[in-house]
Amino acid sequence: MKITKRAVLAGILACQLGSVSAAEKGGDPYIEGFEAYANEVRSYSDVLTEALHSYAGDVAKVEKQAGYIGDVLPIPQAVKVTDGVYTVVGSMIWHNPANFGLNNNLSFVVFKDGVFVFNAGANAALAYSLHQQIKKITDKPVKWVAVENNQGHAYLGASYWYDVGVRNLYSSEMANDQFHEAFPYIKEEWSMRVGRAITRSVRDVSDKFKTFNGEMKIDVGGGEYVLLKDFGPGHTPASTSAYVPSRKLLFTGDLGFNERMPVFFQYTDSYAWQDSYANMLKQIPADTKVVPGHGTPSDMQTIKHQTYDYLVYLHQQVQKVVDDGGNAEEVEQIDQSMYKDRPVFEQAAKPNARHVYRELTGGDF
Ligand SMILES: [Zn+2]
Repeated sequence: MKITKRAVLAGILACQLGSVSAAEKGGDPYIEGFEAYANEVRSYSDVLTEALHSYAGDVAKVEKQAGYIGDVLPIPQAVKVTDGVYTVVGSMIWHNPANFGLNNNLSFVVFKDGVFVFNAGANAALAYSLHQQIKKITDKPVKWVAVENNQGHAYLGASYWYDVGVRNLYSSEMANDQFHEAFPYIKEEWSMRVGRAITRSVRDVSDKFKTFNGEMKIDVGGGEYVLLKDFGPGHTPASTSAYVPSRKLLFTGDLGFNERMPVFFQYTDSYAWQDSYANMLKQIPADTKVVPGHGTPSDMQTIKHQTYDYLVYLHQQVQKVVDDGGNAEEVEQIDQSMYKDRPVFEQAAKPNARHVYRELTGGDF
């Protein structure tokens, strides 16, 4: 029913705008202004009305081809991880207007046949800004984009990549379904936190994604491949990691955190996270370089220490409190001071302990 109504509306507006549908247009204020103006002048000139509508349609088409029209954002320079591998390390704090929603890592790998991008970015402006950095490093086209999970900073920029011609978009099936289901809420949340103007043009392109369960191998030319893996639930119910054996490289997605404290959301299953991490450790060689979901690139040992060991420690400590008949207030007193220098420690430490307590005791989330 919902889809039918949207399709009808898109159909009506598509007639006015030539080949660009309402959904594809993404609610650009400039184009909307011209449409409103076109309708206002209808009472005295059909010719002018039609001319303005066709102008709005032309602008929409140009915008759609460009993916984004505007300035390159002042985001950090991509750091080189290893040969042909780069990552823009996002802010370690919450998404906000000052970091444009760049608070995860946006990465890319240059292969023989093109560029593989890991994470779409939180909006078209960010995706475009990353794209400009890629173009300075290689003249090869972006051919593949994979997203780590269903969160806004992984996914919302996907419509930009689709608009500029990328047709190989990848996500685990469950994350793709969840993103599609929650798209209006995710877009609203990122609009509220990061800014309405910057988020406005993003569209739900989940129907353009190639999805997988478990794993998927992407041939990227030159005898190399990217192995997309869902090692299991954790920070989010489904996630995508990307392993490139030829470069000894792993993008953990949000299974791996460096520096920044791991953060538990309502939907986070911290015990499953520990299991999924252990599953990943079993399959990935110890000498692999790691780009985590959050924080700077490092190695398997460091990211394990910063993520897995923290989960193990917290689980053990909360279990002790529960075994001694302690309550939610007491788990807050668990000593996490050895992590106090990690970004968002204050916001994460006590809520994380309470979260684990609720998981153990079956209380309401
Ligand atoms: Zn994330």
